Amino acid sequence: MSSATGPAVQDSGQPQAARTRTTKAYAASAATAKLAPHSIQRRAPGPRDVQIEISHCGVCHSDLHQVRNEWESAMPTVYPCVPGHEIVGKVSAVGNDVRMFQVGDTVAVGCMVDSDRTCASCRAGQEQYCESLPTFTYNFPDKHLGGVTYGGYSESVVVDEAFVLRVPAGLDPAAAAPLLCAGITTFSPLREAGVTSGSRVAVMGLGGLGHMAVKLAASFGAEVTVLSRSPEKEADARKLGAHEFVLSSKAGALDALGNRYDAIVDTISAKHDLTPAVNALKPGGSLLLLGAAAEPLEFSPLPLLFGGKRIVGSLVGNIADTQVMLDHCGRHNITSDIELVTPSQINEAYERTLKGDVKYRFVIDCSKF
Ligand code: NAP
Ligand code: ZN
Repeated sequence: MSSATGPAVQDSGQPQAARTRTTKAYAASAATAKLAPHSIQRRAPGPRDVQIEISHCGVCHSDLHQVRNEWESAMPTVYPCVPGHEIVGKVSAVGNDVRMFQVGDTVAVGCMVDSDRTCASCRAGQEQYCESLPTFTYNFPDKHLGGVTYGGYSESVVVDEAFVLRVPAGLDPAAAAPLLCAGITTFSPLREAGVTSGSRVAVMGLGGLGHMAVKLAASFGAEVTVLSRSPEKEADARKLGAHEFVLSSKAGALDALGNRYDAIVDTISAKHDLTPAVNALKPGGSLLLLGAAAEPLEFSPLPLLFGGKRIVGSLVGNIADTQVMLDHCGRHNITSDIELVTPSQINEAYERTLKGDVKYRFVIDCSKF
């Protein structure tokens, strides 16, 4: 359990830093180091803060990219790094001005914990595109305590209520955790692309994001094809809601799919050529690029030009849409297919994720810290 060194609600006038709470976590100390037990400080909740005892946190491939400093040129990793942005837990304290949450509520936190709230993106409700960058849940400057933010591979977290989500009753908290990144990251661009009943959608890469894209696109009534390099995933793809499975590693497999899809969700985490996917789009169709490979990606411009097709980047989703997504999942009973692990199994989970051996999201049981 965490040990508190101050009252739960900030009303004493003491400096915040003096009233932090020591919390157990798992951290990487270097790009090549294994994650190991670590201790971090969480702030005492301020007037608009919600203090959450984390029950579960998903393992996203972005955690691996960040821990291994693969995005060094854009977002260098500050060590020790405590990853985790698929957080579910229970509220244990709230600040005096918190209106939306009460002690005991089951709540969630995703990839952001704050933004400047004043720029054009924030005013348009697109906090994820905050012009001064949102405060991401980990590895971003912490406005309250200094240093960087620490994520959900930990016992507890304190977050402004504007960035806290409500988990619908009836959803298993462990299986709901991946909705906070894998869910919203696929839900938001599918909706933005207008995917609806009768749309034809393909999903490239059947991992954490990919399996949520299949479930969500199917729940919108789309006809879904999985494009995967892993033949053993075919039966799962169909169980998840796919109507068709194409083994993308087979030479020429995608050639037969020309001009077929309204949208293709690309969740591949490594370098790959986008051209076969662009070819497979209908004229005017959109390649929804979600994978964040460290290396530049290539595509041939002609198929893009000739079909008036689009390659669209998308980052998670905004806070309002995240709640809409959670409520949609509550109504349709959609959660992630997960494998629950203890904190001491995180390194093994990373190795298996790198090998593609994950069905389809690892989730850490944070009650076991
Ligand atoms: P994941 O669970 O590891 O799944 C990635 C899948 O991509 C794998 O299961 C595999 O599927 C396929 N794949 C991996 N390496 C490949 C390769 N070399 N060639 C072809 N296919 C390969 O990862 P994830 O958590 O879903 O994340 C996927 C990517 O999205 C990561 O780069 C992550 O950082 C990024 N991401 C972006 C956002 C955003 O906001 N845009 C949010 C979260 C994550 P098959 O075996 O089926 O081929
Ligand atoms: Zn993620």
